[in-house]
Amino acid sequence: MLNPHLPLDQKITGDIYTSDEAMKNLSKLCDEFGSRFGGTKGERLAAEFIQSKLEDYGLDNVHTENVEYLGWTRGKASLEIITPIMKSIPCISLPHSPPVDLEAEIINLEDGAPADFDSKSDNIKGKIVLVTSVFSPKDIKRWVHRKEKYGRSLLADAKGFIFINHYRGYGPATGGIGFEGQAGPIPGISISLEDGEFIKRLLERQGLIKIRIKTSDSLSHMISWNIIGDLPGKVFPKEVVMLGSHYDGHDISQGAVDPASGVIAVLEAARVLAKYGGALARTIRFAFWGVEEIGLLGSKSYVKEHFDDLKNIRFYLNMDAAGNGLPKDINLHGWPELNATFERYQKEMRLDFAIGQNFHDASDHYPLLLAGIITGGIEAVRATSTGRGYGHTKYDTFDKVNQTDVRAAAALGARLALRIASEDVWPAKQRNQAAITNLLNQPDQKDLNDFNQKISAYFEKLT
Ligand SMILES: [Zn+2]
Repeated sequence: MLNPHLPLDQKITGDIYTSDEAMKNLSKLCDEFGSRFGGTKGERLAAEFIQSKLEDYGLDNVHTENVEYLGWTRGKASLEIITPIMKSIPCISLPHSPPVDLEAEIINLEDGAPADFDSKSDNIKGKIVLVTSVFSPKDIKRWVHRKEKYGRSLLADAKGFIFINHYRGYGPATGGIGFEGQAGPIPGISISLEDGEFIKRLLERQGLIKIRIKTSDSLSHMISWNIIGDLPGKVFPKEVVMLGSHYDGHDISQGAVDPASGVIAVLEAARVLAKYGGALARTIRFAFWGVEEIGLLGSKSYVKEHFDDLKNIRFYLNMDAAGNGLPKDINLHGWPELNATFERYQKEMRLDFAIGQNFHDASDHYPLLLAGIITGGIEAVRATSTGRGYGHTKYDTFDKVNQTDVRAAAALGARLALRIASEDVWPAKQRNQAAITNLLNQPDQKDLNDFNQKISAYFEKLT
């Protein structure tokens, strides 16, 4: 198959593969600015840095947009077993967990499958739920996210929530438990696999464990920023292809793979497309989202603030953690009408990426998808994983990012953006409300959608 973009592909790819710019940017983001968690100085420095890079690369309309939200600052947390023995277990709070001091019995809900919550629902009330971080408990096809396990605990009137990392040797894993920016009403804390196994063995032997949880986290009004920059189209400037990644990591880590490896890949795509892209038919927009880790807050704010212009977005490619070590596939979030187009790209580009058709709600494409926008992501379609590994632990550090993976992600994002922006006829149309409802009620998603409605009503009552 002929490649109509060959000269540009060669320039873009050649530049990316002979430059150390991306890894220099990674070093800034991780080693200098740290976690970039919402509310930290590093977050602000990272936002300024990304903005200045986009300006240096020659993008247009570079600016930040404020994101107002309920922020969260970590305090000390303790977990004491008080019955039948006295023992202190190291723990951390999960973002958007409230400050508390409480005692209760523990109930083990294993990997937190919806069925476990259903079968034990009469027993959960007033207790502290213990679950692991396993993605797909009991071979459920879809991902059962931490927020769902926490939410099902709320619906069953639990008093607290303990999240056990299911990986050995990585300590506790973090992750937000709030809902749409609201804080959780019961404490969520996280412990290591080793401590979790200890508690389970004790529970098995003794039948009953009582613990005391004390946390001192704080909640306050904060402002974050989305950073936006454009390469304006020359023929249809209003029509937009978007690439994006969030730039905040979790406060306990450098957030190097998730998300910084994606941030530097998007920056790299911006750099080479600005340099070689020439006369683009349509605008290519680069978005760096704030505060994703505590509820996709930056991308949600963008959807709200730009609602009337969303119809002009032809495609959004999410590149959250895109420079990770997994295969560089393209996951289209339920757009089979684009299969043929992406198969053609794949042949044209001489790449072997797989094309998936699954969607999930755990990154910044989701608010856009819920607004009808056509989205996809650089995601591993071929890999089957049981979880995040060192992701969301303090071990997500600079050394985990491989330069070749970042280059592959950057080149893939840039080459796809170029193609999507120049495609004369785009074979997919944005979803209207009926089509969105339909998508969320597909058989494999329906129980999740039902849960989402219940938990949404639950939080509505809290306010
Ligand atoms: Zn991420």
